[in-house]
Amino acid sequence: MTRTIVLAAPRSFCAGVERAIEIVERLLAARPGPIYVRKQIVHNTSVVEHLQTRGAIFVDELDEVPEGSTVVFSAHGVAPAVHTAAEQRGLDVVDATCPLVTKVHQEARRYAARGHTVVLIGHAGHEEVEGTLGEAPEQTVQVSELAEVDELEVDGPISYLTQTTLAVDETTALIDALRNKFPGARGPDTADICYATTNRQAAVATIAEQAELVIVVGSANSSNSRRLVEVAQRTGTTAYLVDRATDVPVEWLEGVSVVGLTAGASAPPALVHAVIERIAELGPIRIVEHEVTRETLRFTLPPEVRH
Ligand code: SF4
Repeated sequence: MTRTIVLAAPRSFCAGVERAIEIVERLLAARPGPIYVRKQIVHNTSVVEHLQTRGAIFVDELDEVPEGSTVVFSAHGVAPAVHTAAEQRGLDVVDATCPLVTKVHQEARRYAARGHTVVLIGHAGHEEVEGTLGEAPEQTVQVSELAEVDELEVDGPISYLTQTTLAVDETTALIDALRNKFPGARGPDTADICYATTNRQAAVATIAEQAELVIVVGSANSSNSRRLVEVAQRTGTTAYLVDRATDVPVEWLEGVSVVGLTAGASAPPALVHAVIERIAELGPIRIVEHEVTRETLRFTLPPEVRH
């Protein structure tokens, strides 16, 4: 049997992740001292391990960074209080926050300045949500489920924002529920879900309809990767998340002739190639790619590493 691998496109790195990794790589090459990174630069085990071997030091909090050192803030963004703490410690900050996350922070500040209660649709505890919440903590309420929207009680003007890596279909349902309950609620029509998340979800839904099994490459703490698994599963196809090729057991592929393959926005393309090689060890393969759209977006680097 020749197995067909249907590759989703777009898949793997987005512009924000490429930018964040490049910032750390450029700093490692250009600055003599240690380069500290607060939290995982992007949510992917392989990326973090690779940068660690190059010398980057990952920390959870700023008090682990010696005063005066260079510290990079991750692609997920940070609350203003973290910027203030870095300033107080005399740290040299290079901010790798994705510009699309920065845009959501700006919206949060704008709504809060108008006196709105800001409903932030997103997963509690996720770094991006914590960062956005930190813009106006007294005026922001976080929700992630319809039941929480039902229970919301807000007086006065209300607006909403979303995490950038949510499932499009689920978020639309939450926004509809919010607007039904609070007809004056202001917010973006298509939510703040970013282009990369939207495109990868559209692509995985398409390949899932053709495949008997979908493999998503990405780490367990990657929100956009986990959403890809769920979107594939909602089409009725079995789907699994794997961190690397060795996580794919042979049993998954027994009797399966069409395998869908994609990767979250934080997962390197090399990991996808490794999964293809693993499948090829079991017998002949044929690769077809299903492209739903082509991405050309690039973000400029921050001035500290531009030259
Ligand atoms: Fe930016 Fe979207 Fe990529 Fe997150 S997934 S880094 S928001 S482009």
